[in-house]
Amino acid sequence: MLEPEVLVLDEPVSALDVSIQSSVLNLLIDLQERMQLAYLFISHDLSVVRHVADDVTVMYLGRAVETGPKDMIFDNPQHPYTKALLSATPRADPEASKERIKLQGELPSPLAVPPGCAFAPRCWKAQDKCRAARPLLDGATQKSACFFPEGDGKPSAEAPAG
Ligand code: SF4
Repeated sequence: MLEPEVLVLDEPVSALDVSIQSSVLNLLIDLQERMQLAYLFISHDLSVVRHVADDVTVMYLGRAVETGPKDMIFDNPQHPYTKALLSATPRADPEASKERIKLQGELPSPLAVPPGCAFAPRCWKAQDKCRAARPLLDGATQKSACFFPEGDGKPSAEAPAG
């Protein structure tokens, strides 16, 4: 317990004032380097994720929809949900805020996950295939679970039925 290799940090700074957040995050990064720790860092705050993460996994209704190195995820999101999340983060450039993607509908209950791609009811790119089959996390270094990914993303294979 005194010399852990992995720490799970679930929203460790979400309740803190911004100035204290920054001190705590810098302390965590310093500890990580000195003690060679691995962190599983869970957060809804993308600016915090960008500050501390090496690799990022984006979750939607309990499933990973995109994963890969931080810079690839932030600079070239391939899953529409990742793209929508990133479009909602505050930016210094006032023109950039015009590109914000507003998702339709409400977040479904995790107890009633939609069939096929769980994001389909809120996705502006959804097609019949998305409602009929579940996309698998697919790709090389950066992986996304989408039949019609953004940019140069690789279309996912379908999960086996059942
Ligand atoms: S599989 Fe279809 S519904 Fe799901 S994220 Fe991709 S385009 Fe949207």
